[in-house]
Amino acid sequence: MIKEIQLRVTLKEEERSDILVLKSAIALDIDKEDITGVKVLRKSIDARKPKIILNYKVAVYIREVLPKNSEYQFDYKDVSKAKPIHIIGFGPAGMYAALRCIELGFKPIVLERGKNVQDRRRDLKAINQDHFVNEDSNYCFGEGGAGTYSDGKLYTRSLKRGDVRRIFENLVFHGATDQILVDAHPHIGTNKLPKVVQNIRETILNYGGEIHFETRVTDFSIKDNKIQAIQLQNGNEMIAEKVILATGHSARDLFYLLHKKNIALEAKSFAMGVRVEHPQYIIDSIQYHCSGERHELLPAASYGLVQQVKERGVYSFCMCPGGFIVPAATANDEVVVNGMSPSKRNNLFANSGIVVEINVDTDLHKYEKFGVLKGLEYQKSLERLAFTAGGRSQVAPAQRLTDFVEGKLSADLNPSSYQPGLKSAPLHSLLPKFIGGRLRKGFEAFGKKMNGYYTEEANIVGVESRTSSPVSIPRNEQLEHPQISNLYPCGEGGGYAGGIISAAMDGERCAEAAIVGL
Ligand code: FAD
Repeated sequence: MIKEIQLRVTLKEEERSDILVLKSAIALDIDKEDITGVKVLRKSIDARKPKIILNYKVAVYIREVLPKNSEYQFDYKDVSKAKPIHIIGFGPAGMYAALRCIELGFKPIVLERGKNVQDRRRDLKAINQDHFVNEDSNYCFGEGGAGTYSDGKLYTRSLKRGDVRRIFENLVFHGATDQILVDAHPHIGTNKLPKVVQNIRETILNYGGEIHFETRVTDFSIKDNKIQAIQLQNGNEMIAEKVILATGHSARDLFYLLHKKNIALEAKSFAMGVRVEHPQYIIDSIQYHCSGERHELLPAASYGLVQQVKERGVYSFCMCPGGFIVPAATANDEVVVNGMSPSKRNNLFANSGIVVEINVDTDLHKYEKFGVLKGLEYQKSLERLAFTAGGRSQVAPAQRLTDFVEGKLSADLNPSSYQPGLKSAPLHSLLPKFIGGRLRKGFEAFGKKMNGYYTEEANIVGVESRTSSPVSIPRNEQLEHPQISNLYPCGEGGGYAGGIISAAMDGERCAEAAIVGL
């Protein structure tokens, strides 16, 4: 017999390794010897009150064999001689599109401008130490896309769009911890992601798929409303029958190319702002009601904040407890910040994007002349502003949080995890009023919601501009571009995803659509 129950466990009780069996036996009023296993279905922390509770949803197996933790089989086939599907971009969307093609018996041919995860690491070092951005290999471009050297938070709101569990199990199949199957806020960590990505690459190659790194797509030959061939930066050309375009939202050259070729794009609302960084102990003490170090069984605390300011949402985005702020620029004349954390989330800082919603229909009057690319141009202008304010390198402009809100230049800054370094800058006057003014009000409100959050011990760092795509690429019900019948816009760059999991789910969907009629 199997019974699903909820259990509440205190931190003291959690120290006992058999606590779930004991509590299950009491809850079900049975002998603990009759319990053959307890499978955790969900685990979350309730830290709203000083007495912290771990909430478990468990399946209790009573005189029954505990099954394996997976619900899915991944049935990969030899596709070396199968019909090809071309996939541009090897981020989460491209990787999952390729894996799905193999399951369905088609050969993925992946074209990726960046390098494999190992070689890519050197280019990340160059950004951090030499302030040199390789425009094909950086925190956004390369094997695994923006998802590899990311935070690896796997939370998604797009539960309706596909099977999240299938994506998670596939990550576990490729080496991620099976803890992600039960945690309420699953997380892999930037130190573990490259190995998972490498394992995915090996599956694709072992089953006969192709992956071409350092192969940037620069153009398409189009005839009779179909892509006939894909042009590559190295001068080569590939004949293609079906093309999944999964180039992410940082591939501006692709947006410019499609626009130049009169292939329809749409302007999309998005969000921009700054990254705020606190010492982790401040966030822990607020969230866990403790004055010193957090309990050893508790993870670095996180938060989620939202406030309406003058009819626009101001909210936290991609909060990284125990993490680092990273330079996520894709060109040498811009500064872009983002966040990541290792699996243990044991760094001394807590950072989060704090961003303001931008409605492209009403908020970008000065940029109307750029048509559908107005959001992209606005985004670019802020990134250039940050580059100039930081001193024209990857040093980022920053300010103490309290000085930003009070409108004062900071005489000095707090220590930070951002490796290229920070420069004090008057972000309160540099940022457009539309964003800066709302951020200031937002931070004041956040200080009231989380007592201790509004502190001079926090820095804000500019700019957090790549939260989501400012452009979308339309597609019809068959997921084809309405003008180009064999082009499948996919993932975050198409405007169909906002994170690793939703991009992966969209990749699978596009593969399923692309095989139709082949
Ligand atoms: P991308 O991951 O952007 O992949 C696109 C790929 O296409 C890239 O590899 C690029 O090199 C390639 N490409 C671009 N142009 C061309 C071309 N012309 N020719 C060939 N190849 C091309 N999301 C989360 O859900 N959780 C997180 O914790 C998280 N943390 C993040 C931390 C950082 C530092 C960053 C930068 C992002 C983070 N994200 C996170 C966002 C997440 O990484 C993206 O939402 C996701 O990667 C989008 O997937 P995608 O496949 O659509 O595009």
